[in-house]
Amino acid sequence: MPPISISLFELLKIGPGPSSSHTIGPMKAGYDFMELVRALPKEQRDAADRLEIRLFGSLSATGEGHGTRRAIMAGLLGYQPESCPSDALEQYADNDTPYELHADGKVLYYHPGDIILDAVQHDYEHTNTMIFRLQSADETLLERIYFSVGGGFLRWRGWQEPDEGTPAYPYENMAELKEHLKKNGLRLHQLILANETALTGVGEEVILSELDRIIEVMEHSVEQGIKTCGVLPGPIGLQRKASVMYAHAKKGQFQGSGFLKAINAYALAASEENAAGHSVVTAPTCGAAGVIPAIIFILKRHMGAMQEEVREGLLAAAAIGFLCKHNASISGAEVGCQGEVGVASAMAAALIAYARGYRFQVTENAAEIALEHHLGLTCDPVGGYVQIPCIERNAMGAVKAYNAYLIASTLDESYQKVDLDKAIRAMAQTGHDMSCKYKETSQGGLALSMTEC
Ligand code: SF4
Repeated sequence: MPPISISLFELLKIGPGPSSSHTIGPMKAGYDFMELVRALPKEQRDAADRLEIRLFGSLSATGEGHGTRRAIMAGLLGYQPESCPSDALEQYADNDTPYELHADGKVLYYHPGDIILDAVQHDYEHTNTMIFRLQSADETLLERIYFSVGGGFLRWRGWQEPDEGTPAYPYENMAELKEHLKKNGLRLHQLILANETALTGVGEEVILSELDRIIEVMEHSVEQGIKTCGVLPGPIGLQRKASVMYAHAKKGQFQGSGFLKAINAYALAASEENAAGHSVVTAPTCGAAGVIPAIIFILKRHMGAMQEEVREGLLAAAAIGFLCKHNASISGAEVGCQGEVGVASAMAAALIAYARGYRFQVTENAAEIALEHHLGLTCDPVGGYVQIPCIERNAMGAVKAYNAYLIASTLDESYQKVDLDKAIRAMAQTGHDMSCKYKETSQGGLALSMTEC
């Protein structure tokens, strides 16, 4: 395999919830397909009379609850995840009128309800497959088969790795990464920054200010969530809980159980914002978007961490996310929730250990402990909505991250018998063995316990 060459801002992306593979990836596909339509010769565009879009796998099984049709519609209309206003998707829900899609003089009419929810089980290369076709009366003028591979990453049949720079310090696993740190006398955040610059050609100053923007969006999602009450969208009628939990944490002056309540409140807050379809950061996915913001909020508001420490911690967290994505998966549709909340928790545990200034080994151990105790976690969202168990699961993931940090930073490093590479391998194998009923299809587990949704 080639070395890890994922950019920080591919992993940590701003976009609308509730699910990166079901909203951000599909929105990108809609946008990309319309660009392809515009690039067609005029006579082909003029011959086009309809658009056909089919969703497969978990996109078909839970696309309805995840808002996939609306996200595709927004992409077709020219929205990109990062700049899409929070409330833009809501308008596509109940409107029966087809939308006009403009492609250099050609107008196509399309409605989100026209998107076909096709087979859940299929033979395409990736479970989250989307087929986009532009048709004339008697032929297919254009077709692209897209794969939403998790965390908002989009691929398609024939996709090739863009010809970008190569990492300054190539690695595929934690063992190789550690070797670079040792040999070059680098700290983890320095290596990740150097690789980002080498990969993207972007200077350090710009990367750091972009990281600050990511942190700001994460903090904003917590701030919004803890002051918003009411019921989340969808048929479950799920009550928002973050503001109530926050009130209890405050009453306890954030001490003792009040501190734990604060971690819970912050994770619930960002997750509820995600479930409402508002903008969050994929960390590493929308479904798991509450864990890292909760830990950042705790670090800054309750543990006196400076922005620079949080930034460095986030770079260490990204390293864990890269390793998990490269050697296993960050997609619930591929490996279950261990790849979403499990990875988010491992990233958050690394973040807190690194930001608190512990030795590198403590950072790795914290990440390993958090990941280890999410192994086997299934993805079974009730009704296909990223609400139950997802929202509370983020709170659990954040608390486990904090606990993993406590274990790793308190006990002697020699006690640690399992390294992060081994835990990631175990996650990949467990995900491989897991029935597809438990991989974001809502066909098993908790999803079946509330079928009335
Ligand atoms: S159960 Fe986990 S992986 Fe599945 S949708 Fe919810 S947060 Fe994502």
